[in-house]
Amino acid sequence: MGGIGLAVNRARAKTGAMNAAAAWAGRALKPVLDFALPPRCPGCGTVTAAPHRFCLDCWTQLRFLGEPCCVRCALPFAYESGPAVECGACLAEPPGFDRLRAALVYGEISRRVALKLKYGGRPGVAETMARFMARHLPGEDGMIVAPVPLHRWRIWRRGYNQSALIATALARRAGLETRLDLIRRVKRTPPLRGMGPRERHETVRGAFRIEPRHKAAVKGRTVLLVDDIYTSGATANACAAVLRRAGAARIEVLCWARVVKGGD
Ligand SMILES: [Zn+2]
Ligand SMILES: [Zn+2]
Repeated sequence: MGGIGLAVNRARAKTGAMNAAAAWAGRALKPVLDFALPPRCPGCGTVTAAPHRFCLDCWTQLRFLGEPCCVRCALPFAYESGPAVECGACLAEPPGFDRLRAALVYGEISRRVALKLKYGGRPGVAETMARFMARHLPGEDGMIVAPVPLHRWRIWRRGYNQSALIATALARRAGLETRLDLIRRVKRTPPLRGMGPRERHETVRGAFRIEPRHKAAVKGRTVLLVDDIYTSGATANACAAVLRRAGAARIEVLCWARVVKGGD
């Protein structure tokens, strides 16, 4: 009996070891497998010729941001208005950051890609976004790249912060320094959707803090704050405020998509 028991135990141990090995191999092989799978359009999932490319249908729906636009917040202007012109909103109430850029106008396709990253957590999607965002990187050396943080409960539930995935992909492409926990979200805030500007501002006030061990590094430096979607600026402004207080010399914001009223 003892012999049989031992044999069963041995068999179990062997199966366990094999499962662990299979799991390990699965993990190790994943990037290779991802690479071997046909590339798909980040917008709709149609098979495409190369990775990180949109199909023609999705591509024609994307609205790229660029000049002419508000020098501060990238709001598109209808006409060329000369360099260093700010939009009415920025003039009336200057944002806390020095400059914001976004790859796309927030619309159906850019929204779908952002959701895919947010709820699917696929680093490949972050890489796609980073490729589109990279051309808006400020040409400055010595920048610190930091994501807009999530509250730790949300990270715990989702397993990752989508902005941190984008920040990592961007920094890797550009060879920049990342500090993923530079800013911490110390207050849990409800989604800002549906709130007016004043209410948004009040909601995120005091929600962010600079991680004490990074404080010295921020002083006199340019910080590139990375986020997926820029909506009202309440979050970016609240992050910019704590960075400014910590002595950041310049605050740049770079997003995947920016909400433009009437833009989708
Ligand atoms: Zn597509
Ligand atoms: Zn503006």
